[in-house]
Amino acid sequence: MHILYAASEMVPFVKTGGLADVAGALPAALAARGHRVTAVLPLYDGVNRAGLEPGEEFMVPVGTWQVAARPWRSRQKWGDVYLVEQSDYFARPHLYGPPGGEYADNPERFAFFSRAILALCRELRLAPDVLHVNDWQTALVPVYLREPDDGDGLEQSASVLTIHNLAFQGRFDVTAVNVLGLPPRVLGIDGLEYYGDMNYLKGGILYADQVTTVSPTYAREILEPQNGCGLDGVLRARSADLSGIENGIDTELWNPASDPHLAAPFSAARPEGRRANRRLVQRTLGLEEADAPLLGFVGRVTGQKGLDIVLDAMPALLDLGVQLALLGDGDPLLTRRLVEAARFRPGRVGVATGFDEPLARNIYGGSDLFLMPSRFEPCGLAQLIAMRYGAPPVVHRVGGLADTVVAWNDNPDSATGFAFDRPDTAALLAAVAGALEVWKEHKLFARIQRNGMQRDSSWQARASACEAVYEKALEARRTRKIGGALKQAASPRPHGRG
Ligand code: ADP
Repeated sequence: MHILYAASEMVPFVKTGGLADVAGALPAALAARGHRVTAVLPLYDGVNRAGLEPGEEFMVPVGTWQVAARPWRSRQKWGDVYLVEQSDYFARPHLYGPPGGEYADNPERFAFFSRAILALCRELRLAPDVLHVNDWQTALVPVYLREPDDGDGLEQSASVLTIHNLAFQGRFDVTAVNVLGLPPRVLGIDGLEYYGDMNYLKGGILYADQVTTVSPTYAREILEPQNGCGLDGVLRARSADLSGIENGIDTELWNPASDPHLAAPFSAARPEGRRANRRLVQRTLGLEEADAPLLGFVGRVTGQKGLDIVLDAMPALLDLGVQLALLGDGDPLLTRRLVEAARFRPGRVGVATGFDEPLARNIYGGSDLFLMPSRFEPCGLAQLIAMRYGAPPVVHRVGGLADTVVAWNDNPDSATGFAFDRPDTAALLAAVAGALEVWKEHKLFARIQRNGMQRDSSWQARASACEAVYEKALEARRTRKIGGALKQAASPRPHGRG
């Protein structure tokens, strides 16, 4: 089948988090199974244009007006990627806004991008079987796919929406209506309206033929009010069409045996190189070059990732004799607390801010344990990478962390890490203390490392689950089974336009 994969970020072009990793890896895995895959993403300022081929300008409706855009093609081994150039919207220093903030015109930028995806299909005469979109930034695609003035030639195409993080919904005040160009029936309570605002993700959940999220446990969690971020009712209405497919990673790009950023490559059979990576991390972060157990963290600095728990636990953690190597970018207040903590405990706590791929890789490849006390975690890629790089993760047993890490307490033989059940200081400390006891038993610890390094986290092992969802989406389209709240829409409309 022909799959059009759309996302707001994608490796190797541009990355702020796990979505980019997934978007960079899943299309190749699908293509390897014989599908034609085309990907679309915005052309941001920071993207290297070398090797990109400019195409013909095309027009995209936004609100009641038209905006010119240009596709730039990048030929990947697995298929074409089109990067949509629109410099008023995307030639900016950040993707979504400065750290801790958002660009005020995000509703317009991503309404444009969603419509540009369909306009591009028309322009290039692409008629994908499935449009697979991701998160709120492209969640309007399934909505526009069903509306009269877009998507010519796409009557047969089905849509799949993947939710990578329900906490980000693209919720904007009602003035967003002006840029949407959607008829009133789509803007009401059975459509995008959400407590007087416009909610792009809600629109996608209601209109997509199938909805997926990134782990089976998270797919269940988000149906409950405490984890549903206010959309649990909407998700329950679509629960028959909702599934959880665990994320994978690109095991070539994340391969400790050939990673060019590592101070020293290594493998499960020859793990010695990890020492050099550890030294590099210690030197980079001003840590004492001691053999103390090194606890690593790489990720967004937000309440979600639980770094405040690490901060509160820090004195007691250090009493356990560990060093901390933390790399993160995000919330300015929390980041300042981290930097202060490092200044207060020089040589024991090292903090780097910003986005630093080489350092991140050496933290994965040099730490003894990887901390992931996330309050919630849809899937998490960092723990997958940490396992592959021989740093057993210590995780809060939630969402994808529960699905991907086999905890020492549960199964010592096949354990790949350590888990705790409450996102608080005491639980984190107890888990780290327990992990350090195992760390002292070299043989036991080496087995946990080996189990993690040998875990198959590849997309190849998961692409067939995506195919099954695409088939279901096509079936829904063929039989014109109407999903979600469209059933209850005040003004009933046939599914699709054909
Ligand atoms: P998220 O919730 O941010 O998507 P994931 O664990 O799913 O979290 O994926 C995060 C990805 O981003 C991983 O590849 C991780 O290595 C990378 N990453 C996060 N923060 C940084 C940083 N400051 N520097 C380098 N890489 C980072």
